[in-house]
Amino acid sequence: MPRVDRGEGAWLETEHGRLLDAISSWWVITHGHRHPRIIDAIKAQADQLDQVIFAGFTHQPAEDLARGLIAIAPPGLSHVFYSDSGSTAVEVALKMALGFWKNHGSPRSRVIALEHAYHGDTVGTMSAGARGVFNAAYEPLLYDVARLPFPTGRGCDTLAALEEAAKDAAALIVEPLILGSGGMHIYSAELLAKMKNICERHGTLFIADEVMTGFGRTGTLFACEQAGITPDIICLAKGLTGGSLPLAATLCTPQIFDAHYSTDRSRTFFHSSSFTANPIACAAARANLQVWREEPVRERIVGLGEMQEQRLAQFTGDARFQNVRRLGTIAALDLKVADPGYLAGLGPELTAFFHARGILLRPLGNTIYVMPPYCVTAAELDLVYDAIGAAAAKFCG
Ligand SMILES: *Cc1c(COP(=O)(O)O)cnc(C)c1O
Repeated sequence: MPRVDRGEGAWLETEHGRLLDAISSWWVITHGHRHPRIIDAIKAQADQLDQVIFAGFTHQPAEDLARGLIAIAPPGLSHVFYSDSGSTAVEVALKMALGFWKNHGSPRSRVIALEHAYHGDTVGTMSAGARGVFNAAYEPLLYDVARLPFPTGRGCDTLAALEEAAKDAAALIVEPLILGSGGMHIYSAELLAKMKNICERHGTLFIADEVMTGFGRTGTLFACEQAGITPDIICLAKGLTGGSLPLAATLCTPQIFDAHYSTDRSRTFFHSSSFTANPIACAAARANLQVWREEPVRERIVGLGEMQEQRLAQFTGDARFQNVRRLGTIAALDLKVADPGYLAGLGPELTAFFHARGILLRPLGNTIYVMPPYCVTAAELDLVYDAIGAAAAKFCG
């Protein structure tokens, strides 16, 4: 395992040489490694206040960030709850949903989730996620959820299943528009809007897990924007600090906040962790929002989407690939392999192949995806796609 010594823009420097970070260090780095404004903000905050209890106390970076997030989030989300990872942001969302129903005196507790979903690696989020080799050992601890078939075509089966399940469910949780860890499966904004509509009709809460999709990945700041919807709860993490430090936020509507706001302690939303709203992480995220406000990030992500599209085009109609697809800045394609039994070991082999060519890619089985930081250049992207072409030549004969 190589030791990484330095990061800059789209590149990592390891003890063995440079690597082009084509997966944004597991989808977190948005603008590039060590964006100067974010690094400066971290340094300045470290000189001011490193950490403080966030129960009964507050601080400027957390307050500024909360206001900033509410200003850019889908309209109607009014309250922010901080935590420290994507998994925790989702746990918090699920607990808010259950607390909402309990405090309303209604017995709803069932969660609905999509086939192939991934929502994190804690017990609660694994339960909402798809079952597989990654959580088989923990199956006895996982709770049962209503599972919707992944939407294909017009998504009629998914919508019908949701219509049935939503009648008495507490919440539907989705990764909007694209399911990441489950294999970069894309579905339409129209379907997302229809799912939201069904939930509304049944009073079922709608949770958008934007841990991966948030902060520009899908071509808009948040994926929900493309469907014109406001979820009841949204989960943010990975790109929140531009990927520089761990921080997460769960935003909710006034209805969910009000359901918990009471002098009666039994109605409280109970979730506290030691590093909630760490001031340095909040300062990094505040600087990230400033980058979004003051730099042409939106133009950059549109440009990156176009560059991805151009390079993907060479593989459309190439018999060695299938499901060539793109959503915003994310491109994905599946390598066709003759022996499906070979699939399980293919991911690591491809990863090693790319690594030897100076590219950090980490395919999910036979699904190769490119999710670079937004500072990546056309020439750098060419290196990535040249390597993908070489991989097809080697692994597809
Ligand atoms: C990565 C991810 C998570 C978990 O985030 P962590 O910070 O790794 O705990 C949750 N949901 C989605 C959609 C993710 O992509």
